[in-house]
Amino acid sequence: MSAPMSETTRFAPSPTGRLHLGHAHAALFAAEQAGPDGRFLIRMEDIDRGRCRPEFEGGILEDLGWLGLVWEEPVERQSAHLSEHGRALETLRAKELLYPCFCTRREITTEIAQSDRAPHGPEGPLYPGTCRRLSRSERDERLAAGESYAWRLDMAEALRRTPPLTWFDRAAGRQQAQPDLLGDVVLARKDIATSYHLSVVVDDARQEVTLVTRGEDLFMASHLHRLLQVLLDLPEPEWLHHRLILDESGQRLAKRHDALSLQNLRIAGHSPESIRQRLGFSML
Ligand code: GLU
Repeated sequence: MSAPMSETTRFAPSPTGRLHLGHAHAALFAAEQAGPDGRFLIRMEDIDRGRCRPEFEGGILEDLGWLGLVWEEPVERQSAHLSEHGRALETLRAKELLYPCFCTRREITTEIAQSDRAPHGPEGPLYPGTCRRLSRSERDERLAAGESYAWRLDMAEALRRTPPLTWFDRAAGRQQAQPDLLGDVVLARKDIATSYHLSVVVDDARQEVTLVTRGEDLFMASHLHRLLQVLLDLPEPEWLHHRLILDESGQRLAKRHDALSLQNLRIAGHSPESIRQRLGFSML
């Protein structure tokens, strides 16, 4: 019998504030899945320089340590790996799978409102493909004029180049990958030359994550991530999506739920054990 593969999981918070109960659940879930013999990593997803603050990183680690979590050092920062994200972007660009998109948010909204054929995904209208249809000369002119642009994935072309894909969620089972549900996603934003989707896929591969755990609100993103892994020739992990923690009125927890931040719960006298129990993790 072969020895069971040891698992590598990660908790990947964005340092845009302190952690709340929902983050605690995600972190405990990832650590539990790594198991006693696995590797549990923390990665600061700090590519959005406008929203992330270094001072939150210390607070996040303090909260996680207080909860009783132990992780592998060093804690990595996504912003330290922007050149690798850039290389992945260049790979896709060289394969002619990307196009520059000059649209503003307002232009996209207007275009969607005016068109009765705008593509829709499960989460609402998709990018209508305006800049995919630009002529080469118009594109070159706008680039030469210095207009700012994002890089979007040409989804139809990417799907033409790949066989039908599947991915495996340990709870939901084998999934037919349907990245087209997300349309021509932005892979490098106008302001930061990468995106959540691109960086997360590159970093999970670099850190040899074997099991990607994340909230079920990101289930759709995993369809796209499987496609990006194939296009970038990266190894295939498995996934496990977990429930989200809701407040009394059924709303997802967010930064505005200040009373449910771990810092405030601690100040109010809650113990790490009581938090773990409340979230269904009585054992560490
Ligand atoms: N930084 C992302 C978040 O906080 C991580 C999600 C993921 O696991 O990919 O939602």
